[in-house]
Amino acid sequence: MKISICLTMLAAFAAGLGSAAAQSPPQTSTKKVDGTDDVYLFRYGGHQSIFIVTPQGVIATDPISYLRPAKPYIDAIKAVTDKPIKYVVYSHHHYDHIAGGQPFKDLGATFVAHRRAKERFLELKKQKSLLADVVMPDQVVDDKKSITLGGTTLELNYVGRNHSDNSLVMRLPKEKIVFVVDFAPIEQVQFRNIPDNASPLEYIASLKKLASLDWERMIPGHPYAGGRFGTKKDVEDHIAYMEDLSAEVKKAADSGKCFDTAMKELKLPKYEKWGNYETALPANVERFCYWWARGY
Ligand SMILES: [Zn+2]
Repeated sequence: MKISICLTMLAAFAAGLGSAAAQSPPQTSTKKVDGTDDVYLFRYGGHQSIFIVTPQGVIATDPISYLRPAKPYIDAIKAVTDKPIKYVVYSHHHYDHIAGGQPFKDLGATFVAHRRAKERFLELKKQKSLLADVVMPDQVVDDKKSITLGGTTLELNYVGRNHSDNSLVMRLPKEKIVFVVDFAPIEQVQFRNIPDNASPLEYIASLKKLASLDWERMIPGHPYAGGRFGTKKDVEDHIAYMEDLSAEVKKAADSGKCFDTAMKELKLPKYEKWGNYETALPANVERFCYWWARGY
């Protein structure tokens, strides 16, 4: 009897939690990536990072603690291992993914980023607009570098300028997984007017390099398309989107429709079911108008 009362109360409590959760999903979640022994996905609001647990310590990626504490991420790691956090690897220099790493530094982690990310931080510092809680990288990567710890290798690949000029593809060769932040959206158009992007054509070339690497599953820095992982086909679809967008905007530019008319009229119905299509397509068009009608 006691048990059934408890179960009823528990069920009522769980139902209450369920409705609260429906209103606002939990701020953080951690799950082991299927088919791996030691790779974890940590979600913090609408941002995601991976961390890899080895017998000699943890390799963490993006602190994603911009305007929020690092503690939930560190707690998530401590909940699955008592090994020290040895590395924090930055995907690229944008604050929403990499700010807030000081508590990881205080625990002794070595910070790794692309060389250009460090240069960007130094420029931002000179302009007095570097966030105070961005930890400067201790080690930098040029084209390629591997971190090996406790029998696990994480390969860091630079595939060219795209969403930033310092984005790294983090590849786990054994698991055939890549962690790719912001530059290869899944079933979603590009972010706003594709900011911090020096050349849309180089961007497309970098997506082709990503597609040429040896991997099967792509973990993104945001939970796109219901939170599923990406495939090679997703990257190929995004390349097709960028190429279709580029070709259509080039036509519009050649007939004098850039910027405003093209931004208003240009549609790509093939992609109308993709995330942010309605809201971001005009700004995506604007970026390619700059390229084809102005050369920058
Ligand atoms: Zn970014």
